Amino acid sequence: MAHPRTSVDDDEVAMVEQFSDSPFDDSPAALWRQYDALIFDLDGVVYAGAQPISHAVDVLAFLSTHSAPVWFATNNASRTASQVAEHLSAMGVAVSADQVITSSAACASYISTSLPQVQKIRVIGADGILPLLAELGIEVFAGKEDPTVVCEVVVQGHSTKTDWQDLAAGFHSIVDGAAWIATNSDLTIPLEYGLAPGNGALVAALAAALGREPDVVIGKPHTPMFSFTQQRTAAYNPLIIGDRRDTDIAWANDHRCASMLVDTGVDRISDAVTSSRYQSTYLASDLRSLLLDPAQS
Ligand SMILES: [Mg+2]
Repeated sequence: MAHPRTSVDDDEVAMVEQFSDSPFDDSPAALWRQYDALIFDLDGVVYAGAQPISHAVDVLAFLSTHSAPVWFATNNASRTASQVAEHLSAMGVAVSADQVITSSAACASYISTSLPQVQKIRVIGADGILPLLAELGIEVFAGKEDPTVVCEVVVQGHSTKTDWQDLAAGFHSIVDGAAWIATNSDLTIPLEYGLAPGNGALVAALAAALGREPDVVIGKPHTPMFSFTQQRTAAYNPLIIGDRRDTDIAWANDHRCASMLVDTGVDRISDAVTSSRYQSTYLASDLRSLLLDPAQS
């Protein structure tokens, strides 16, 4: 199944996993045991919209039973960590909010450390960040709320409810001098029925109107999300598991971590040869590969 490359700079193409129907492997050589943190992406890896992805619940339940160091790192800023944990628990994956790392939490952390003097922030989408900014004592204007207020920062993150008036209010604040922070730049998001525009697509709309890019992007593959994740996990040797090369795998490569691309979301593992810019350590059809011994596959 999965064959590791010797380093993240090695351009050797990883072998495509061929998973058999053998039972879950509990051997000491199982892939998941070789890392001190398993950092799962969510959209396209664990669920698509509200629906769990095949085998994800069973694998995560197995890992939980074995006290594996499981974490979740998502670029999706639409929900709080508690809301994500509730969704996972409702799917049958019992996790605590402490195991969930969101780009909104990383964004709030970035603002508190890098922009500690900020008093007013306009938030476009990104409902998950609202309580975190309130905890910091920051006055928050959500979306189109009071568009004439002068804000020092605009945060833009995913929401299915963002409309033209929200974008117009954000545009106005940025033209007036607000710093522009995007929680993430994913162009698409996987849903039950296929792909849909992600936060990056709405960031691109604003960028087209403004004629410039955001000042900071927090989420994967960018460093603010990695620094925050490293703080939270305290891991030295994590495995990053995701469905996108341009976010999850690029994030792992740029920060010299091992990675696994799963074939359940945005990118296809069969595209490995042609999409060689961001190569993963492992290619897997689904999360069951974590439970196998790579040397036996
Ligand atoms: Mg994803």
